[in-house]
Amino acid sequence: MSKKKPYEILQAEIYDIIEESPQIRTLRLKPEKNFTFETGQFVELTIPNVGEAPFTPSSSHYIKEKLDITIMKAGFVTEAVHQAKKGDRVGIRGPFGSKYPIDQWKGKDVLIMGGGVGMAPTRSLFLSLIENIDDYKSITFLIGARTPEDLIYKNQLKEWEKLKNVNIVKGVDKVPEGQNWDGEVCLITKLLDKISIKPKDNPVVVCGPPIMMKFGTFDLIEYGYEDKDIYLSMEKKMYCGHGQCRHCVMGKYYACKDGPVFTYDQIKNEENIWE
Ligand SMILES: Cc1cc2nc3c(=O)[nH]c(=O)nc-3n(C[C@H](O)[C@H](O)[C@H](O)COP(=O)(O)OP(=O)(O)OC[C@H]3O[C@@H](n4cnc5c(N)ncnc54)[C@H](O)[C@@H]3O)c2cc1C
Repeated sequence: MSKKKPYEILQAEIYDIIEESPQIRTLRLKPEKNFTFETGQFVELTIPNVGEAPFTPSSSHYIKEKLDITIMKAGFVTEAVHQAKKGDRVGIRGPFGSKYPIDQWKGKDVLIMGGGVGMAPTRSLFLSLIENIDDYKSITFLIGARTPEDLIYKNQLKEWEKLKNVNIVKGVDKVPEGQNWDGEVCLITKLLDKISIKPKDNPVVVCGPPIMMKFGTFDLIEYGYEDKDIYLSMEKKMYCGHGQCRHCVMGKYYACKDGPVFTYDQIKNEENIWE
């Protein structure tokens, strides 16, 4: 679908639903024709008779005939998403916005930090990177959630851990009684203490709740990353998805059309970036 027709809706069928956690589910969609996007870009998902909201696909951008979208309950539209059933039809507009520049990362040590439902765009990135795994020196994926029960994509972690030059480090803030856990217990930003990467000229991607994005960025700078190498997915509140409604303005940028992927260098002087 072309950005020249931003209101054109592609119909898609929900062919499967994965309950990832009590608040998060993945819709597995089969669009009526192939859908192309670049990892990091987002779509507007329409739930008929309810409304639409922006989400970043969580599947590899190399898959065109299917699309996964992982969605946390937050309000009106996302509650309806959690009522949807296999076989229901939804609409997709887009793709919109900027992508992760993975072609520029060949030969580098790539670090990814995904917290909570922020693992959705970072899973798309990770799955896209591992399609050409030999192009990258290493891929380290720091994964965080509030509790083991809240951690998403649990069943895939074991497979990812087996991949060559891939390091998965997972942590939760706390382990309530009765929940099993074999990872770290700390804030996701503290997982940086468990890895050893040379930050110079290597990219790092951060996606998660605003507080994690903010303190994660500061910790990465302390670790030695330069502002130009820190990629942030700015999930600002937005409606139209293509620079018309102005809900997502961040200083001189629109999160929808200039982002959602920005380097920290680009946006660090803009107002209210962490809100
Ligand atoms: C580019 C982009 C990509 C996104 N990708 C994903 C994704 O992959 N998975 C996912 O679960 N969510 C994602 N989101 C967030 C998602 O769009 C919102 O949760 C959704 O719009 C809420 O709609 P609603 O009608 O359910 O909530 P509403 O009833 O509209 O609002 C419920 C509450 O959520 C707040 N809210 C609404 N939108 C946002 C937002 N963007 N950021 C923070 N708070 C918000 C409202 O202010 C309100 O307090 C993304 C957002 C953007 C902009």
